[in-house]
Amino acid sequence: MSKPTQTKRGQRYLGDEGNMIVHDLERARGSCEIDEILDESRGVRFDPDILEQASLEKFRPCNRCISSY
Ligand SMILES: [Zn+2]
Repeated sequence: MSKPTQTKRGQRYLGDEGNMIVHDLERARGSCEIDEILDESRGVRFDPDILEQASLEKFRPCNRCISSY
């Protein structure tokens, strides 16, 4: 399941509810606009914190920080 988050601390993946894209915080670039996602309260985290869970919830992997899925 996913829940809103205001931080990227203690998690690997961050979902953007605005466009339903999930980012890998270990590899995110400036163009991923992670800070904007958090500032605009669009961010969600996943439990468990894995890409498969994000996919189950219809999030698509970011093509900048998640190269292949
Ligand atoms: Zn990204």
